[in-house]
Amino acid sequence: MNAQILDGKKVASQFKEQLKNEIEILKKRSGIHPVAVSVLSTDDPGAVSYAASQKKTADELGIDYRIQHVPPSISSTEFEKLIQQFNHNSTIHAVLINKPVPSQIDFSSMVNLLSEKKEMEGINCLNMGKIFLGQFQLVPCTAASVMEHLRHAQVPLKGKNVVIIGRSEIVGKPLIFLLLAQNATVTVCHSATDAAGQLENHLRLADIVIVAIGKPNFLKGGWLKPGAVVIDVGVNRVDGKITGDADFNSVVAVASAITPVPGGVGPVTAVMLMKNIVEAYKQQVSM
Ligand code: NAP
Repeated sequence: MNAQILDGKKVASQFKEQLKNEIEILKKRSGIHPVAVSVLSTDDPGAVSYAASQKKTADELGIDYRIQHVPPSISSTEFEKLIQQFNHNSTIHAVLINKPVPSQIDFSSMVNLLSEKKEMEGINCLNMGKIFLGQFQLVPCTAASVMEHLRHAQVPLKGKNVVIIGRSEIVGKPLIFLLLAQNATVTVCHSATDAAGQLENHLRLADIVIVAIGKPNFLKGGWLKPGAVVIDVGVNRVDGKITGDADFNSVVAVASAITPVPGGVGPVTAVMLMKNIVEAYKQQVSM
């Protein structure tokens, strides 16, 4: 078998086109522009370039995307005040707090202080709790990207065995509920599964494998059921090159479809952030 390559750039570009049209319609209907704020309290080059790329994508879609620089010396009280101002400002629909934050700021507390209606990444307690209840409004973007890949490739989920490798709060855990809502049978594996030598036993039954562990070329084709679909979330830098968590060459020979790294889950994740802005805007503006 030679797996179909699930092209994330293509999925992202089609999704962007749909979002752009939707935003255009919603703006006409409400007379209100979607506005998002990205709070940057660092000059870390990775964070600065991530914020700039969020803004570029948002600009292309017709979202008013503002990068709010705050000095790294900001106190926790001042940061809290800023968050409360965003919460009370009805002209701002979505807010993202970029990492890293200065050491005096507790990232989780600030994200949890944000109104759940505006918290753009879908990672605060209330948004996570809603996912547990099957209410998928603002969903963590990487998990949403995995689901969008499966939807786009028309991979059936009902009654299928899905193995998620990795149980992080932004990928593995939200995926449990997103997949259950599609009537998949979900198994979650983690480091203790591997340490107990049980990983291959679970993988043998998997119709779909989602790997998100941060270990380059970890998942081997020989562990898979022939024809399985593999979604590779991993982003690892090896000898200056980006590589996934799946051993692409061996997996591609056994799987029926695989997301490449780079160019798979990543590009779609960036667009899912924009989807969350639109979702937040729709929740707050009367259309
Ligand atoms: P994380 O917080 O780094 O956690 C790693 C998870 O992998 C943990 O649950 C850990 O198990 C599990 N794990 C580690 N070694 C394992 C092994 N040998 N066998 C089975 N499970 C193992 O995870 P993350 O933040 O989700 O990141 C995972 C990868 O996805 C990274 O490469 C990251 O860069 C990438 N990522 C990509 C995107 C994107 O948009 N493309 C977004 C986010 C993250 P324990 O819980 O038992 O420790």
